[in-house]
Amino acid sequence: MKVTNVELATVAVKPEQYPNTQLPEVALAGRSNVGKSSFINKMINRKALARTSGRPGKTQTLNFYMVNEMVYFVDVPGYGFAKVSKSEREAWGRMIETYLQSREPLKAVIQLIDIRHKPSQDDKLMYEWLKHFEIPVIIVATKSDKIPKGKWQKHQKVIEKELNKHPEDPVVLFSSETGNGKEEAWRKILHYIGK
Ligand code: GDP
Repeated sequence: MKVTNVELATVAVKPEQYPNTQLPEVALAGRSNVGKSSFINKMINRKALARTSGRPGKTQTLNFYMVNEMVYFVDVPGYGFAKVSKSEREAWGRMIETYLQSREPLKAVIQLIDIRHKPSQDDKLMYEWLKHFEIPVIIVATKSDKIPKGKWQKHQKVIEKELNKHPEDPVVLFSSETGNGKEEAWRKILHYIGK
């Protein structure tokens, strides 16, 4: 996939602020520090367009990156900050749920999981919730360079089992350090947006 043009087109916290173009959208979700910003930046060949890990308390927004005037990557703020207040967590939840539940152009969610660790309770809840709403999920196992290739399959199996992964949802092993999985991730995205 040759990415020639990317811009942060829209920042939104509520539906009136979502873009009103006809482009398909793919959202990205994962716990903080999973490598979501690094994933986005690698996919679009930028060093640092997507923000890296925000600290708790930072403004939580949905960031719509328009890629090649073909698809929006919708960066959803990371979950799993232990330190945020209950009210912040609730506001986060409402914003995400509103977007994911009712957004017609949303074609799939990329859920990122660190390949080294068992999915957390938050990871499991997020996946279950997405499946409840019948949203296609591409699971991206991040930081594959951090474990030897010989162990990839074993770790992938743990992720699949712990999430109770549905058979139709693909898993892509990814590294923003080496570029492993980049083309495959693009293929899956193009599939779900009908390209
Ligand atoms: P985010 O909070 O999910 O957006 O995570 P970041 O993209 O900011 O990454 C969190 C940390 O993990 C940073 O120190 C990154 O350099 C590191 N990281 C992200 N992806 C990879 C990867 O594929 N391989 C390695 N080795 N480190 C990574």
